[in-house]
Amino acid sequence: MDLKANHTAPILTDPTPINKQRLGIHDSLLPCSPGTIFSQGLFLTLPWKKPGVLDDVRSTGWLDAMKSSSPRNRAKNNGIDFSSNDVDVAYRDWMLKYPSALAAFEQIANNAKGKIIALFLDYDGTLSPIVSNPDHAFMSHPMRAAVRNVAKYFPTAIISGRSREKVRKFVGLKELYYAGSHGMDIMGPVRPPTDHTTATVRSTSEEDKDGNLFQPASEFLPMINEVFVALVDITKDIKGVKVEDNKFCVSVHYRNVDEKSWQTVAQYVQDTLEQYPRLRLTHGRMVLEVRPVLKWDKGKAVEFLLESLGLNNCDDVLPIYVGDDRTDEDAFKFLRDGDRGYGILVSSEPKESSAYYSLRDPSELAIHDDNNQQQ
Ligand SMILES: [Mg+2]
Repeated sequence: MDLKANHTAPILTDPTPINKQRLGIHDSLLPCSPGTIFSQGLFLTLPWKKPGVLDDVRSTGWLDAMKSSSPRNRAKNNGIDFSSNDVDVAYRDWMLKYPSALAAFEQIANNAKGKIIALFLDYDGTLSPIVSNPDHAFMSHPMRAAVRNVAKYFPTAIISGRSREKVRKFVGLKELYYAGSHGMDIMGPVRPPTDHTTATVRSTSEEDKDGNLFQPASEFLPMINEVFVALVDITKDIKGVKVEDNKFCVSVHYRNVDEKSWQTVAQYVQDTLEQYPRLRLTHGRMVLEVRPVLKWDKGKAVEFLLESLGLNNCDDVLPIYVGDDRTDEDAFKFLRDGDRGYGILVSSEPKESSAYYSLRDPSELAIHDDNNQQQ
């Protein structure tokens, strides 16, 4: 790769232009094309604030969003504590709108008859429990066995906000597709795909010469590295903060930070981003995430993978996406809008979603495989 510079930032350019011949995908899906790889059309238009003007994070709603994602606050509403019974009633009411995927398993299986299921799985909070230390978000052996078993029959992809390398290490299955950094870093199985797939995403780097790779945001790598170092430095005195380098995005975890300091965390992140108008801030479960201003998300990653597999817009394909977070909503919405397939939201509390079904806990995902193994 050559390192070039323009008036805004160094740009990593790939000597092999990305085109549909190389990717085997439809033009309309290409996030970038030769000569227009980082044209304006790829970027989101954001109402960005003027440099040097500090926002109060409370006025932008960040503090509210941080509090609402806290498990410590889930049984409270407007300062009122609800009993566990009230919470259960609220959850049961919510399940009328988002039925349990376990209870609806037969219905889903009936709809899938004669179709290829394409399975997309988020990692944190979906395959693994949410834990205090994000480096310790390990998936259980039964869960790994369940995913391995499913991947024998259906194309299966993990789509995570983590770096692709990290989530691949956690899952440890070579036969899957992995999309890290919210879908900005996609790789196919290292082993040749089985006959249920026709993957055409080709490798472009030394690192992944034994796999397949697609990276629509490679231009942003130097900028992301720079902002990672800046965020580590600015938050170093806040106890409990963990800044994680996820390659094409940076996560600032505040799960272990005293709630009194959350506002400071959000303000520091916003202050840092003042100098990076080509990066934006999003919010996940107890985490602030910095990512490129690209029209690319988990929904786009699902669309890209379906197209790459030759499974998009096919009547005999049923895509299913399982996730727990706001960032998964883009994928749920993509499946719902096109009446393409089902989203399954993993959540122990009621919340609005574009998913069709729900699961209360990550462990419920592995139940059917346990049953199969016992039979
Ligand atoms: Mg998640």
